[in-house]
Amino acid sequence: MTIKVYNTLSRKKEEFIPRDNKVRIYVCGLTPYDYAHLGHAKTYVAFDVIIRYLEYRGYEVFHVQNVTDVEDKLIKRSKELQKNPLEIADFFFKDALKDFDRLNIKRASIYPKVSDHIEDIINFISRLIEKGYAYESNGNVYFEVKKFKDYGKLSHQSIKDIISGARVSIDENKRDPVDFALWKKAKEGEIFWDSPWGKGRPGWHIECSVMSTKYLGVPLDIHGGAIELAFPHHENEIAQSEAYYDKKFVRYWLHTGVLTVNGEKMSKSLGNFITVKDLLKKYNPMVIRLYLASIYYRSRADFSEENLESAKNSLERIYNAKRKLDEALKNPGDGSSLGDTVKRVKENFEAAMDDDFNTPKALAAYYDLVKEINRSADSASESQLLEAKKLFEDIGNVFGILMEEKKGDLEEKLIQLIVDIRDELRKRKDFEMSDKIRAKLRE
Ligand SMILES: [Zn+2]
Ligand SMILES: [Zn+2]
Repeated sequence: MTIKVYNTLSRKKEEFIPRDNKVRIYVCGLTPYDYAHLGHAKTYVAFDVIIRYLEYRGYEVFHVQNVTDVEDKLIKRSKELQKNPLEIADFFFKDALKDFDRLNIKRASIYPKVSDHIEDIINFISRLIEKGYAYESNGNVYFEVKKFKDYGKLSHQSIKDIISGARVSIDENKRDPVDFALWKKAKEGEIFWDSPWGKGRPGWHIECSVMSTKYLGVPLDIHGGAIELAFPHHENEIAQSEAYYDKKFVRYWLHTGVLTVNGEKMSKSLGNFITVKDLLKKYNPMVIRLYLASIYYRSRADFSEENLESAKNSLERIYNAKRKLDEALKNPGDGSSLGDTVKRVKENFEAAMDDDFNTPKALAAYYDLVKEINRSADSASESQLLEAKKLFEDIGNVFGILMEEKKGDLEEKLIQLIVDIRDELRKRKDFEMSDKIRAKLRE
């Protein structure tokens, strides 16, 4: 059996054939101007499960994820906080990695930053100008969309549709409203780099074309990201990259569905903005992980805390089966139906994951195993138990739900708890006690 993946480009499930045994995957990364939220966690857990399954299938995976440390939102934040945007980005990026570590999301092979690749970006843009796909205008450089005949092929719309959809901003520097910025002239007080077009900084889309192809070559096997990025971000990436290389940019485009909270888009103004950090204070990271991994990656999902309560119960059954296996192995029986179950579950799990990483179906197969372990492990033979244990762990590792938190994490949690208590005391104006705690923490 081969793996089939849904390709946004063709809108079909296609047989997955990478360039070779090493799968080259690029996933659009964070613009770290704030704490990571649950939507980020959904996307990155989804791709983590996909990567783990590819590894289960014997592929080696090279995973590149960019860090957008030069961007409008960061510049805005830096004005508010009166801080260097690169420092803000560095802080929130490192913080997000810590949250993601606790969710057992494997780190990417590399995390290239925009600020480290300005020269590459300038060279790439210069070449696009030379080839007639881009033009300079008043210190800015724009990509001339109508020069790229395939524009719109990912989001399945024509340039005419895009213009009439009015999803583009009018700008007197542009030849055409659909053109998008490759290089932006610096405004007063903003971070800038010198370039052939004067002081400025890269536009958002160009970084992904430059850094993905620099580290992975063309074509990438998989380009992933949240579905909101398909247009214009990924459409623009295709235009830039294929104009530059005269070659197909990406073989398979994989997009994750949106996460809403109680039926609404997550936003700060609605007050339904959930950071990973806040959720980790209330729930075992593996509960959050199991909930996120149980969503079919392409589906949109609506979050409510009930989802986590049910994931908590499921996880308990899973961990119970683990204990049961270990117990039974100390004193094996003569044999039970566990052997047949193992064979069936393995087939069902692989069939589900081969079918565009259908995790809900794959998890159903896993629960089948868990149930049978809880029922008949006591009488199973040693070889049956060992087989069951191997499959139990293999599948558990694809979902990434078997990580037990190290002691260090517990310590961190306790310290956080004490800090929270101190803050609460201060709010209640109990300064004596809060100062005592602060002094103790410093020791
Ligand atoms: Zn991208
Ligand atoms: Zn990107």
